[in-house]
Amino acid sequence: MGCGTSKVLPEPPKDVQLDLVKKVEPYTAHNNDMYKHFIKDDGGTPIKAGSPSPPRHTNPYPSGHLPMHLEQPETRKNKVAKYRAKFDPRVTAKYDIKALIGRGSFSRVVRVEHKATKQPYAIKMIETKYREGREVCESELSVLRRVRHTNIIQLIEVFETQDRVYMVMELATGGELFDRIIAKGSFTERDATRVLQMVLDGVKYLHTLGITHRDLKPENLLYYHPGTDSKIMITDFGLASARKKGDDCLMKTTCGTPEYIAPEILVRKPYTNSVDMWALGVISYILLSGTMPFEDDNRTRLYRQILKGKYSYSGESEDASASWLLLL
Ligand code: ADP
Ligand code: MG
Repeated sequence: MGCGTSKVLPEPPKDVQLDLVKKVEPYTAHNNDMYKHFIKDDGGTPIKAGSPSPPRHTNPYPSGHLPMHLEQPETRKNKVAKYRAKFDPRVTAKYDIKALIGRGSFSRVVRVEHKATKQPYAIKMIETKYREGREVCESELSVLRRVRHTNIIQLIEVFETQDRVYMVMELATGGELFDRIIAKGSFTERDATRVLQMVLDGVKYLHTLGITHRDLKPENLLYYHPGTDSKIMITDFGLASARKKGDDCLMKTTCGTPEYIAPEILVRKPYTNSVDMWALGVISYILLSGTMPFEDDNRTRLYRQILKGKYSYSGESEDASASWLLLL
C-alpha cells in the first residue's frame, strides 16, 4: 500500500480509459466546478480470485504487504516504535500506542489504550502535508462528526497539528470482512444475508443524511469483535460525499476503487447515492461466490466489463429466494 502516490488525473478520455485510477478524489473548492483529481493507490486488486478457485487459494496480498496480524512480532514492534515517534505529545499524554493495525494511502491506524480508563481505541493518523491527504481528511471528518449509528465506526475525539490529524475512534477488533472472506472462501447465503443486512442498515442511515460513502468494499467493513456473531461496522469515509439538505444531490467526481465503481461514474455522468448500492451488489457477489464479479489486471478491460455489466455467476442457489427474502 504505497503512501501518497498522487497524480493529477487528466480529463477522462472519451473511451473511458481510466487506466491509472485507483482511488481518485476531487479538489473540493467551494462553488468551483473545476475538478482536480488525484490517485490514491492503496496497493492493487483487493481479491485475486479467479474462478473456480476461491480467494484463499491465491495470494491476496500483492506488493509484498502482509496484513498486520501476519507480520513477524519483531517487525511489528519496530513499526510500533516508528509510529509512536510520529505521535503528537498531546496524544501520547493521553493514550498508550499499542500496535499498528492498519495502513492506507495517507494514513496509519494504531490500536491505543486510554491511559486513565484503560479503554482500547483506534487512532487513524492522516498526513495532511499534501493536498490529497488534507482532502481525504476533510471528507472523513465532515462525515464522522455527523454520524452515530451502531453499524458505523464512531469518532471519539480529534487532535490536529500542522502536518497531521489524529482521529480517535471506536476500536473494531474483529478484523476486516476482507480477511474473513479470504479465510472462509465464501459465505453461506444465511451468513451473507446477515452481513449485508447490517451494512444496508448503515448505508440507509448514511443516505438519509445525504452522505454517500463511495468506497464500500470488504476492506472498509470491520467486525466489532472476533466472534462469529459480531456486528459489522462501516469505516473509511475518505472518499465520502456529504450533502447538506437542499443541496443538489448529484455528484460528478470520479472516485472509488476500480472493481467496485459503478458504470455511471465511469461514463462521468452525474450520479446519485445509488453508486453505493452498486458496490453492495459487488460485495454480495464476492460474499456468495468468493470471487470478484469484475476482474482484470488491465484497467481498461475491467471498466469495459463493468460498463457492459458482463459477469457470470455459478454458485449454489437452492435456498436463494428464501435468503434474499430476508433482506426485503
Ligand atoms: P484508508 O483510507 O487509508 O484505507 P482506513 O480507514 O480504511 O484507511 O483504515 C485502514 C485499515 O485500518 C482498515 O482497513 C482497517 O483494517 C484498519 N482500521 C481502520 N479503522 C479501524 C478501527 N476503528 N478499528 C480497527 N481497525 C481499523
Ligand atoms: Mg480503507
